[in-house]
Parts: sequence; C-alpha cells; structure tokens
Amino acid sequence: MGSIIDGKAFADRLSESLKSEVASLVADHNLQPSIAVVLVGDDPASHVYVRNKVRRCEQLGIESIEHRLPSSSSQEELLALIEEMNKDSNINGILVQLPVPEHIDDKAVIDAIAPEKDVDGFHILNAGALSIGQNQMVPCTPLGSLMLLKDQLGNLSGMNAVVIGRSNIVGKPMASLLLQENCTVTIVHSRTRNIEEICRNADILVAAVGIPRMVKADWVKEGATIIDVGINRIEEDGKSRLVGDVDFDQVIDMASAATPVPGGVGPMTIACLMHNTVAAAKKQAGLS
Ligand code: NDP
Repeated sequence: MGSIIDGKAFADRLSESLKSEVASLVADHNLQPSIAVVLVGDDPASHVYVRNKVRRCEQLGIESIEHRLPSSSSQEELLALIEEMNKDSNINGILVQLPVPEHIDDKAVIDAIAPEKDVDGFHILNAGALSIGQNQMVPCTPLGSLMLLKDQLGNLSGMNAVVIGRSNIVGKPMASLLLQENCTVTIVHSRTRNIEEICRNADILVAAVGIPRMVKADWVKEGATIIDVGINRIEEDGKSRLVGDVDFDQVIDMASAATPVPGGVGPMTIACLMHNTVAAAKKQAGLS
C-alpha cells in the first residue's frame, strides 16, 4: 500500500517560512506584501475560496484588500478597477476570482492585470514565459503540485509523466513544469484514445479533469506517484462530500504515493498564492 502525500502539512510548513519572510520584509525593508482580491457576483463556492485566501493572508501578515462587486457589474467597471489597482504601488498582487459572470470576458480580465501583479500566473505573458522556460509568475496549483512531487521523489529527470487535462490553468502549465524537470511528458484529454493504456505507462500521473474518481486502479502503473488535482462535490450515502478525480481507495494499493482530496493539492494552491504574492512584492521593490 502506498503512502499518503500530506499536502496540508507541506503547505503549513511553506506558510510558516513565508510568515517569517514577511516579518523580515516588514522589519528590514518596511515592505508589507499586499494582495487585492476581486469577487464579482455571488457564486457560493467563490465566496468560500475568497474567504479562505483572505484568512490565510492575514495569518501570514500579508495585507489583503477585498473588492466585492455585484453580478450586474459591467466588464468596463471591472477593467477600470483593475487599471486603478495596476497603478497603485501599494498593491503587489491582483487576483480576480474565477469564474466571472457570463457577460464578462474572462480572457480580457486576465490580460488587463499587470503581468508583474498577476499572482495567479494566468496572464498571456506569464503563460508564454513558462512555455519557453523563463518562468515569471507560475500558476499556483501546478506549482504546488510540482513542489509535492519534488519533495516526494527528489529528481524527476527521465520519468514518464502523464497529465490528464489540458486547461490553461492546470494541465498545460503542469506539463510545462514537468518538462522543465526533464520528464517525458504526455498530455491526455477528452479526445485521447486508449487513455487508460497511456496512464499505465506513467511514473507520475497528474489528474486535472473534474470527473469524480475517474482514475481507477487498473489505470495506474505499480509504484507510480499520483497527484489528484480534482475537487468534485458529490452526494453519497446521504452526505455531501469532496472527492478527487482519482479513486483514492483503489489506487493507493497500486501507487507508491498519492495525494488525498481534501488535504492534498488544495492547501498547496493557497500557499503558492501567498508565495507568488511575496515574490511579486520583493520583485517590485527590487529585492528578488
Ligand atoms: P477544465 O474543465 O478547464 O479542464 C478539464 C480538462 O479535462 C480538459 O482539458 C478536458 O479535455 C479534460 N477532460 C474532460 N473529460 C475528460 C475525459 N473523459 N477524459 C480525459 N480528459 C477529460 O478544468 P480545470 O483544469 O480548471 O480543473 C480540473 C479539476 O481540478 C476540477 O475538478 C477543478 O475543480 C480542480 N481544480 C482544483 C484546484 C485546486 O486547488 N486543487 C485548482 C483548480 C482546479 P478537453 O480539453 O478535451 O475538453
């Protein structure tokens, strides 16, 4: 039976070191990193995500500024707010919680954020920099997943890595990061043929799909390391619960290690957001 990769414990350690770093930045350079979080509309899950991010900022000594806009807000109003925050030297990071309401073009919103303040790493310049190996702001979920893999496996060079999912926020940046670590990387998606067979060849399997417990034991090579990015809410036995894209109870018998849901990649995403915010503040102050 494989071991459980404790993302929460790793995220707590990362957060502790960031907290000390923030305290030093304040004491030595009078620099308090800050992030502005924008939430448009009243999607309940987004409210929970924003609340968690703001709480984490406070715990680490990062200043957080919240903007809650009604769902009726226009794209122009949102872009004007972003422009104002781009110019505000007291704000180091800007995050617009996705999804935004349908009448707003999320690509226009992402690309309106100044790349150096784009702590989510979604701006086209940051995505391009990552794809040519000149990393600037790296998206938080793949960054956190890579940290867990390196902590677990050390050197990843030469390993076969399969990423299930090709989204711009998880699948593609995850594949770029693994390629930078000299893995042999395959991305599979909804049109891929023989997906199970390809997955069975993976030393590292990253699932970022959004289908509850899609990855079964017979998709997994014996001794593989599994990162489950999926967060899916399901009703089971009369209860609402969160499950990943991997059938953890089955897969853990085949794998050498796997992340659970919850308590795996999720906490790393928030910790890496804080990491990116501190890095942005240092860079903007000429301290990196
Ligand atoms: P998207 O919906 O943007 O992308 C899903 C990807 O999965 C697509 O590339 C899609 O392929 C592929 N896919 C869909 N169905 C299949 C299938 N049957 N077989 C193979 N591939 C398939 O999702 P995200 O990347 O944004 O998120 C993925 C999951 O990760 C979700 O559960 C989300 O909640 C979670 N998540 C968790 C985070 C965390 O902090 N832990 C952060 C972000 C996301 P195609 O491109 O062909 O449509």
